[in-house]
Amino acid sequence: MSDISSDLTLFNELVEVLMKEEELHPVADRIEAEELYSTIDLSLQSAGMVDEQFKSVLKEVLVSTPKTATNLFFNQLFGGRQSKAVLGDLLAVLLNNSMYTYKVAGPQVGIEQEIIRQSCNLIGYGSKSNGTFPTGGSMSNYMALVMARDAKDPNSQRKGMTQPMVVYTSIESHYSNAKNASFAGIGRDNIRYIASDAEGKMIPSKLEEQIQKDIKDGLVPTYVNATAGTTVLGAFDPIHEIADITEKYGIWLHVDGAYCGSVIFSDKYKHLVSGVERSDSFSYNAHKMLGTPLTCSIILVKDKKHLYESFSNDADYLYQTDGDNFNLGKTSFQCGRRNDALKFWTLWKSVGTDGLQQIVDQQFDLANVALKYIRSNSDYTLYSFDDSISICFNYKDIDPTELCTALYENQITVVGFGAFKGETFVRLVTINANNEAVDILNFFKVMEEFVEKHPNLKRIAEHVSEEV
Ligand SMILES: *Cc1c(COP(=O)(O)O)cnc(C)c1O
Repeated sequence: MSDISSDLTLFNELVEVLMKEEELHPVADRIEAEELYSTIDLSLQSAGMVDEQFKSVLKEVLVSTPKTATNLFFNQLFGGRQSKAVLGDLLAVLLNNSMYTYKVAGPQVGIEQEIIRQSCNLIGYGSKSNGTFPTGGSMSNYMALVMARDAKDPNSQRKGMTQPMVVYTSIESHYSNAKNASFAGIGRDNIRYIASDAEGKMIPSKLEEQIQKDIKDGLVPTYVNATAGTTVLGAFDPIHEIADITEKYGIWLHVDGAYCGSVIFSDKYKHLVSGVERSDSFSYNAHKMLGTPLTCSIILVKDKKHLYESFSNDADYLYQTDGDNFNLGKTSFQCGRRNDALKFWTLWKSVGTDGLQQIVDQQFDLANVALKYIRSNSDYTLYSFDDSISICFNYKDIDPTELCTALYENQITVVGFGAFKGETFVRLVTINANNEAVDILNFFKVMEEFVEKHPNLKRIAEHVSEEV
């Protein structure tokens, strides 16, 4: 029934369709959500679909699926396409290993471990360190929290929560922290959201005040989640000052670098995570700044014993050969686990650490192009800061919510909005390292032309009320 070589021929044909489509229509033809099922035949039926029809449905799906690799996609914290990483991911699909044992994954185990070892070296974790590839940054935060909980109270693994634990993160941190507190049995009400300063960075003195208050109230401070690249502004929490506090009170420090932790590859920008070597765990998403296909998230742990203590479980039917160091299922959350390492390894192997540095630096260069443009044009208001690849602005006081939605619905460009301290703005993410300066300037051009043609776009509310 299945013939891989003819399907690969079809695959190549479809790839060509997609590449041409990306060039001609960098923003996909959009189907209204309500009209989706009546526009494309997505139905599953008792009879199979024959070749030509099948192919044409696949083409339709490809053409109308949002194009995240093009030079007009700025909506999310990923974008573009590193082709050597795509190659690795395609091979991973064909090989179809599961990463739990050496018996089943063989050299892929070494590939994953080499990435982890090199990453640990880059951040200055010592010889006891190791890590794993969770399903994403949210899961990395979760694993860190569980290790922190178990380190504080080893009984919690058997008995459930026996101590009134509290955890800390900044008000600007990723929303997974709230869910994770719930999953880990700590409870959403026991997260303390620490205020951030004018640039979106956690204020260490506020953190310490809160910890002291909680201790006085008989609570058990357990975990601090600091962010390297906050989701909206791309701000970096001050790790050294936070580590001074976590070390003083014996609290686990996790640095969530899902967005911008990949600065560890750049000589120029790694100072932004200075102090990370003092953390207990650190995570970064290669599918964000490094441009690998989704998902590729790495968590590093300074002392690997915590990974074993929280995540290993005996399973006679699984672990039968080769020993713990090669059976990666002993330190993962999942049982069956996709090979997310190979795509990162093919990229890293082919461009070298120097190439990864260039990928990171390019994003900051593009951000600087955008910053310079905005600063030199009085129709713009800037809300973001230096050393960030999230460029936040408003144009001619147009309501950013309405502007972004209109740009998307008219297939001009795909960009999102965010908010910080009560201001809402367009958030242009310069994470696609395939882009050049001209692509960033083109973004402003197509947006300005669109605004020109649509003079009735709503202005920002407070200005509207002033006019009324
Ligand atoms: C994207 C992001 C996450 C979540 O990562 P996923 O891989 O999407 O689960 C967590 N933290 C930060 C700061 C992020 O930007």
